[in-house]
Amino acid sequence: MVIYMGKRTIKALIIGILILGLVAGATSYTTTTASKGAAVEQWLRSGQVVKQVSTTRQVVALTFDDGPSATFTPQVLDILKEHQAKATFFVVGKRAEKYPELIQRMAQEGHEIANHTYNHPMSPVNPARLAEELDKTDEVIYSITEKHTQYFRPPGGKCTRATVEPALAKGYKVILWTAQEDPMDWADPGVKRIVDRVVENARNGSIIILHDCGGDRTQTVEALPRIIKGLKEKGYGFVTVTELLKGGSTVPAVEEFRMENWME
Ligand SMILES: [Zn+2]
Repeated sequence: MVIYMGKRTIKALIIGILILGLVAGATSYTTTTASKGAAVEQWLRSGQVVKQVSTTRQVVALTFDDGPSATFTPQVLDILKEHQAKATFFVVGKRAEKYPELIQRMAQEGHEIANHTYNHPMSPVNPARLAEELDKTDEVIYSITEKHTQYFRPPGGKCTRATVEPALAKGYKVILWTAQEDPMDWADPGVKRIVDRVVENARNGSIIILHDCGGDRTQTVEALPRIIKGLKEKGYGFVTVTELLKGGSTVPAVEEFRMENWME
């Protein structure tokens, strides 16, 4: 049997199919992006993922990633002690295991210790691997301090469903940082630039990211007393992440619902 279709009919059919395809494609795109956006928004609204804290208190949280380092962490601890400033250390489990005395010192001196994975994998890992990274690190910290870790910062701050969801399921809060004063000290931009970026841009509730390991952190160590002095002169106090979260709202301003760290 032959079905006869005129040229016009065929043309209309082809256009019809194309339109259908486009509509279907657009619908599936909207669904995926909307559901991702909805997840991120829900996490930010519920305070499970934290980028900033809105508070009327004039306080900031200094955070140090990637340590401990036998060379730089003791210097950072000395400076914090001298200036009576508290901080939060997002430590790498395998390094904590190597330097338990530094973890002990952090805890004794009133600092908070948080989870930054065991091996610091730079590319996002699958959920099972992440769960393992979190547990191994928590075990190390618990064996030294008898306290479990409550906060998690993914390596590089890279957030995916696979890195955020297992952490939330374990009861962690994912703590990122406030972008406006991130000095990118890991790139050694110079002491003055590190100091200025932080001191000029920090606000109430800022979560300041610095590094006490992962390379030569001489610039960070030199910048730290100047950051503390500069912010103290402006009236800021230095608290742990737990202290910062108390009495502050973690819901970002509307324009901040964008997650620049979102990888998917
Ligand atoms: Zn890191």
